[in-house]
Formats: sequence, structure tokens, C-alpha cells
Amino acid sequence: MAAKTIAELDLQGRRVFIRVDFNVPLTPAGGVSDATRIRESLPTITHAIERGARVVLASHLGRPKGRAKPEFSLLPVAAYLAEALDRDVVLADEPAGDGAKKVVNDLRDGGVAILENLRFSPGEEANDENFSRALATYADVYVNDAFGTAHRAHASTVGMVKYVSSKGMGFLMDREAKMLSKLLGDVQRPFVAIIGGIKVSDKIGLLESLLSRADAVCLGGAMANTFLCAKGVPMGRSMVETTKLPIARAFLAKAEASGVRVVLPRDLVVGTDAKALTGTVISATSVPDDQAALDIGPDTASEIASVLSRAGTVFWNGPMGVFETPAFAAGTMAVAKAMAQVMGGTTVVGGGDSVAAVHRAGVAGNITHISTGGGASLEFIEGKKLPGLAALES
Ligand code: ADP
Ligand code: MG
Repeated sequence: MAAKTIAELDLQGRRVFIRVDFNVPLTPAGGVSDATRIRESLPTITHAIERGARVVLASHLGRPKGRAKPEFSLLPVAAYLAEALDRDVVLADEPAGDGAKKVVNDLRDGGVAILENLRFSPGEEANDENFSRALATYADVYVNDAFGTAHRAHASTVGMVKYVSSKGMGFLMDREAKMLSKLLGDVQRPFVAIIGGIKVSDKIGLLESLLSRADAVCLGGAMANTFLCAKGVPMGRSMVETTKLPIARAFLAKAEASGVRVVLPRDLVVGTDAKALTGTVISATSVPDDQAALDIGPDTASEIASVLSRAGTVFWNGPMGVFETPAFAAGTMAVAKAMAQVMGGTTVVGGGDSVAAVHRAGVAGNITHISTGGGASLEFIEGKKLPGLAALES
């Protein structure tokens, strides 16, 4: 059966364990520097409070590698949350154990507690049975609102779920699943994918799955360098994954055989290095030995914009260049703006850096869906079943 949402679950007086994604960046002084992920889960948390639940929140933060490390404490998150909710938020001093048990037992209806960083225990990422069982003792109801970790089978996303009888998706998880599903199955055509960023190896699964579904695939960023190199273009000092050249060639051949249009850069902005103050536009036939390709050129940006102007469905992941450096940001900004002008279709952006680029371009309001999950959104769109979502079905 399809997963329920939190709105369908009975919460009154029950201990509602909500797996959230509070993996936020912190300031050097120990504050929250970007609270987007916390704010995204507030509707789910507030709903549980209003229904009289005893709310137990759980998240990971950073990579403490299975040990308690003060710099990865959720204390700044708990403080931010207390202010946002305007109520006490009690932080347990450990993810599981006597301290956590006491904090949960002391909860009253409508009260909020948060367990300490789940990854302080090695059992979290190992999906360990004992740790899963320990977490489940804090839950009468299990809710997962952490889309960003739904592609990982960890104790808090998969292991503990079988021990809790009542379970469902938080509002954020539900929205992600609904919106990303619009890119699977019967999509409005033409379906255009724009894939950039760094690694062919991270995204080849997605690229191959797009061959059977997309009408056009536009490649940019360092990713496109490997494809240009595979076609015999000298790439100078550009970032190229030389071990992936055969995969790139095979992809281009399959695309041609299946009638999927592949748009590769026809011009490039090159520079001495990623931090250079200026770049030079060249045609994508040869990158000079002492230069690197750091952005798509203006002709390529126009070509992508023209493909997008006719699109019915668009998925974008991965910047077109080193957009963090002003001299190499134009291609990424142009694609963001062209995407925002797609009329009447569905436009979706996934990936940490691509989402940052959309915000920087100031067009976030004109995109149908901006996913909060990087790896999770890629796997979802690749058509894989995410373990964290599968665990919620009954
Ligand atoms: P996302 O987070 O959206 O999935 P990635 O992490 O795959 O995207 O890629 C983003 C990074 O790719 C950015 O930091 C950007 O500077 C880098 N990048 C894009 N194009 C190039 C290029 N031509 N050369 C080097 N780095 C690039
Ligand atoms: Mg990234």
C-alpha cells in the first residue's frame, strides 16, 4: 500500500518520532548559517504539536564518524528551533541510551525533544539492529520528513521502521515524492534534462536512465568536458575524467541509436584556473594547452534556452560552469533564467549547487519544484526506489 502522510495518522498523546534532515551548515561561532532545511520541516513539526503529539525529533549533522564530537552537536539546531517554534526544545545528550530515554519519558502532550546527532552512534549508518530497536523504543508513531537521506538505508530511515506499527511521510517528504514523480512515467513532452556539475561517475546512472525517457539531454560543466574529450576535442587543462571516456562514448552512441538529442557545448569560456578574474570565449573545437574550460559559452547558452523554450518538462542538475567565480557564472545564470521562462510546463531543479545557483539567479519563485535532496533526487529521477520511502509503505 502507498505510504500515508502524517495528516492521516493519529497523533494525540502519542510519541511521534520524526526523522528530519537538520544537516545544516554552521557558522564558526556555532550558530546555524543556513536554516533552510529546518524551516522546510516546520509544517510537519507544527502539525504534530497542534495535534497534541509528544514530538521526538532525530537527525544527523555532518560526519562525526560514529563518535560524540562537540563540534557536531545539534545544540545550535535545538536553539534555532526553540526560537522558531517559540517553545522549549529539550536536547537529549545522546541519540540513544538512558539520557535519551529520560528526555522522551518526560515529554508532555505538545512537547518537543530532539535526540543528539544520530551519527554519534556507529549504529546509524551501519543500520544496526540494536540501535534500530533502541530508537524504536522512543516511537509510537514513525514519521520520515528527511527526503535528503531517503536514498540511504540507515537505522533511523529504514532499520527502526519495522518496529513501529504506525508510520508515514512528513509534508516535505510527501511534496518531494509527488513533485519528483511528475518526471517519471507519462511526462508532458518534450522532456529536456540539463546535466552539468563535476562527475560523470556520480551521474552516469541518471544519464543512462534518461536515454529511455528524455527527448533531449543538454550537457554542461566539467561533465561536458569529458564528453567533448571523448569526441576528440583537445581539452587543455580542463577537468576531465579520463577513466570515463569509454562510458561517455558509449552514452553518445546509445543516444544516437535511441533518437535522443544530445546538446554538447559548441563554445566555451576558458581561463587559466577556476579563480581567474577573466575568461575568454572560444569555439569548442580546441582548448589551448595552458587554459581550462570553465563555463559554457554564449552560443551554447542560447541553444539550451531555445531547447527549453519548447519544453514541457525540464529537470536540471549540475551547474554549467564554475558559477562561484563571476567570470564563469554566465552560462549557469542564463540556464536558470531560461528555465524560469518555461511556460505551462513542469520545471524541477535538484542538487545542492544547482539549487544555490537558482537562488543566486533570483528565479526560485518561477521554478515548479526545487528539491531539498541532492543524491536522493538524482536516484528518484533515475527511477530507483528510495529505501526510506519504501520503508513507509505497508
Ligand atoms: P550539484 O551540487 O548541483 O549536484 P555538482 O556538485 O555536481 O552539482 O557540481 C557543482 C560544482 O561543479 C561547482 O562547484 C562548480 O564549480 C563545478 N564545476 C562546474 N563546471 C566546472 C568546470 N567546467 N570545471 C571545474 N568545475 C566545474
Ligand atoms: Mg554539489
